[in-house]
Order: sequence, then C-alpha cells, then structure tokens
Amino acid sequence: MVVSKTASIQSINPANREVIGEVPIMGATEVKDAVDRAWKTYETWQLVPYHKRIKKVMELRRLIEASADEIAQLVSTEVGKPIVESYLAEMTGPLDSCVWLAENIETLLKDQVVQMSNPLLATKQSVITFEPLGVIGVIAPWNYPFSIPVMTILMAVACGNTVILKPSEKSPMVGIKIGELFEKAGFPGGVLQVVTGDRSTGEQLTKCDLSRIIFTGSVAAGSKIMAQAAPNITPVSLELGGKDAAIVLPDAPVDWTARGLVWGAFTNAGQACASIERVYIIKGKNTQKLIDKIVHYASTLKVGSPLEPTTDVGPVIDEGQLEIIEAHVNQAKEMGAEILTGGKRNDELGGFFYPPTVLTNVNHTMDIMTKESFGPVMPIMVVDTEDEAVARANDCDYGLCASVWAGGLNRAEAVARDLQVGTVLINDCLVSHAMPQVPWGGLKKSGFGRSHSLFGLMDLVNIKHISIDSSGGSHRIWWYPYGPTRVKTARGGLKFLHGTFPLGKIKGLFIFIFNLFRKAK
Ligand code: NAD
Repeated sequence: MVVSKTASIQSINPANREVIGEVPIMGATEVKDAVDRAWKTYETWQLVPYHKRIKKVMELRRLIEASADEIAQLVSTEVGKPIVESYLAEMTGPLDSCVWLAENIETLLKDQVVQMSNPLLATKQSVITFEPLGVIGVIAPWNYPFSIPVMTILMAVACGNTVILKPSEKSPMVGIKIGELFEKAGFPGGVLQVVTGDRSTGEQLTKCDLSRIIFTGSVAAGSKIMAQAAPNITPVSLELGGKDAAIVLPDAPVDWTARGLVWGAFTNAGQACASIERVYIIKGKNTQKLIDKIVHYASTLKVGSPLEPTTDVGPVIDEGQLEIIEAHVNQAKEMGAEILTGGKRNDELGGFFYPPTVLTNVNHTMDIMTKESFGPVMPIMVVDTEDEAVARANDCDYGLCASVWAGGLNRAEAVARDLQVGTVLINDCLVSHAMPQVPWGGLKKSGFGRSHSLFGLMDLVNIKHISIDSSGGSHRIWWYPYGPTRVKTARGGLKFLHGTFPLGKIKGLFIFIFNLFRKAK
C-alpha cells in the first residue's frame, strides 16, 4: 500500500510489486454521507419481507458463481493467494452462506412464544422478536478480502440491516468488486456501500452513528476500535489474531498428518488467522518419521506466481510482513532453534516471497512460539505427554482455533475439550470458516462475539421481548399500595413457590391467599 499526495492509495501486486489500481482515501464527510444514506435506505429495507431479500441473496450467489474466474484472478493478483485458494477459500464460504441463509433465516428469526412458569405471571405471554439493528459497519482485513466481508455482509443484509464496508487498504480493488456485485444483484443502492481508504477512513467510520461494528483484523487495531466506539456506546464484535496450535497424538497416521499440517501452516503463505502457527508432537515411535515427512512436503511445495495453477505458496502481502517473519525466524535461530527447511527470504522471484520454513528446538521464550508470525513458518516442539501438549497450547494470549491430529477419535475429542479456543478441528484445520452453519470466533486476545450461524445472526438483530398481559384489569400484587398486609402476601407467596418443606409450602399458600383478599393496610 502506497499513500500518494492526492489522498489516494495504490494497490500493489505482492508477487511483482506492480501497481494494479488506485482508490481514494475517503474522509470524514464522505464516510458520514454514506452512513446517512445507509440509515435512509434502512427505513425501507428493514420492511422488505425475507423472501424478497433472499431473492437478491440468491441472485448474488448466481453472480459470484458466474464471475468466479474474474474474482479469483483479482484476489490472487491483489493479495498473492494461489489461484486454487482464491476459488476454494474465498468463494465456497460466501456461496454456501447464500444457500444457508435462503433455507434457514426465516425459521431461525421467527417469533418465539414463551409461557411463564410462575403462577403469579400466568396471565402473561411473552413474544421474542428478532428485528434488524440498523446500520452495520464492517471493517475488513486483506488476507481473505472476499470471503470474510461477503459472509458478514450477507448475514447482515439478510436480517434487514444496511452495511458500510471499509475494505483493507491492501485489498481495496476486491472491496470495490464486492460493492459492484451487490449492486448488480439488485440490492437497493444504500444497502451496501463501500468506503475505501486506510485506517483513518476506518476510524471515521467507527465514530459515526452505527448500530454495530464488526471488525476483523489485528489485536492492536481491535483494541483501538473498542476505544473509538466507546463514546457512542457502539457495540463491537472483534475477530482478531491467532496463534493456533496443532497437537499430534502418537497414533496419528504419519503421512496424512504431515500433509495436513503442511497445508495448515503454509496455505495463503501462512497468512490466515487460523493458520497452524505451532505444532506440539507427543513423543512416540513415529515422531522422527513425522518430522521427516513434514520437511519433505514443505520443501517440495512450489513457491511462485499466484496465477500459476501449479503454485502452492504465493508471496506474503508486503515488506512489513516479510520483516516480521524474518525477525521471528532469526530470533529463534539465535536462541538455538534448528531450521530444517527454508529460513531465508527469496528475492529472486521479484515479490515479497518467503519459502515454507520448518523449525525444531523451539520453546516458549521465542516470539515464534508466542506472537502471531502470519507467515509460512512451522515451529515444531516435541513434548512428553498429552497434558504437556494441552498446557503448552493453552499457554497463549490468543484463543482462536486449534487442531488435534489422531487415529483414535475419542482421545482426540477429549483433548479438544481441554483447549481454550473458539474452534477445534480434529484431523483438519482452518476449513470451518467456510461453514456458515457453525459459529466462528475466539477467546482471550482473539476477540469476542461470534460470526456465522444462529449465534452470528444474534449479533445482527435486536432481540426484543414483548410481554402481553391478558388478565384485563385484575390487580397485581406488585403494584401499589404497599403495607404490612402486602409484606405478608409476598412472604407467603415466596414460601409457597420456593419453600423446600411441603408443610411450609401449604402454610405459605394459606398466608398468601388469606392476605391477598384483605384490604391493604
Ligand atoms: P489490521 O488490523 O491492520 O487492519 C484491518 C482493517 O482495520 C483494515 O481495513 C484497516 O484499515 C482497519 N483499521 C486499522 N486500524 C483502524 C482503526 N484504528 N480504526 C478503524 N479501522 C482501522 O489487520 P490486517 O493486517 O488487515 O489483517 C491481519 C490480522 O487480521 C491478523 O492479525 C489476522 O489474524 C487477523 N484476522 C482475524 C480473523 C478472524 O476471523 N479472527 C480473520 C482474518 C484475519
């Protein structure tokens, strides 16, 4: 990302450092105008019935599928993702979300009728309704520039909200493309608006009149956004970084596990919030074989142009990211880590390339085991027991995802239950972000709130309770006037309803009824 004098940003292809586009950095006035327009559109959009909103969602699905080649090329060019991943990791989640919303949203957000169990409240019936909130601000990262914002926007607009998207300054062209697709799908103009710019644009957005901010990005920015949103008491959902652990049990099949771990650490050049960033192998007879296989698969991955179908690993996003990776690897090396493959940036390819790197002899005093590297590095620690693996995995500021690799699934599930994270995948990793049916989100510094599924929908609606009393004018014991008789009624009522001895309950009922019909004193 380069900021020019005319308050615009250039989007750079990380594979060859060429400029692929330029967009304006929108300021306070433009952002506020967009938010005002979103509120205006909300007045009518919230009234559109579900089946009509879903029709547009399904039209968007048709358009994404029909434009899949164009979208994939753009994503791979702008953020350096291998083209296979631009199809699979960027488009399956949004497409499946369209179908899931079409099939479920109306049922999931149907009014719920609730009866009271307390006899004093027997004349009341409660209805819980799920109404749209208003205008949602979506602030997005560059690493999944299409799937992350599109899945969130789809859920928000299907509920009846309108949305302002602030795409990352490193992937603005994909952000603009998202806006075009929603427009082409027939969503009214103000339902989704895209405001381009850097963090200053994002900051302006967080200070506007929004019903919720859904932020996905770094811990540092998430913490600032909470503070920026605080004066207006704007709720925030934070999907932040990760340092995901993979735990390998001794009975894990060697070749297959090695291939899974290598994919989990190096897909998207390790730039996924849920990348495998640490591996704990529980010592067993296959430990060395597994490490050898990991090194074999990692060192034979093809690093190169993201548009080349045979490329496995593309560039990282920019020089800043390369420097973080180098700092982590070099520090680990100085502190005694052994590099089994990779370990040095590759300048010959012309972009920001770093080869898949596997390290052993690492420990938790090294940044590579505790801080988010966000690059193609896999540090491996061999541990003695399952308890040690779990303790090490939980010894972390983050709590996004984890994976457990095993032959026996019962043992793997027991380990999964001990891990302090939002998601555990057994014998796979990462892929659950593409599942709209299940929640996504983390603990600790990985953030709070959930996206996807019913739980994600609950962050996008006002859960309203309407209590209806049908007793038609009868007196309530909790209304005035108060006095000693009312105290006796109340005490008797409590004894009857919640006393533990049968005789006491009967006595309570008697006191309650006797005082209920006496004149208040
Ligand atoms: P980032 O925090 O630098 O930027 C994310 C977005 O926030 C950008 O659009 C940026 O312009 C905006 N922004 C930054 N500061 C802001 C501020 N003060 N006010 C308003 N907006 C602001 O993150 P990034 O480099 O784009 O993304 C990488 C990070 O995102 C990694 O830490 C990764 O783990 C995390 N991530 C998390 C998830 C998840 O689901 N938990 C998913 C993807 C990425």
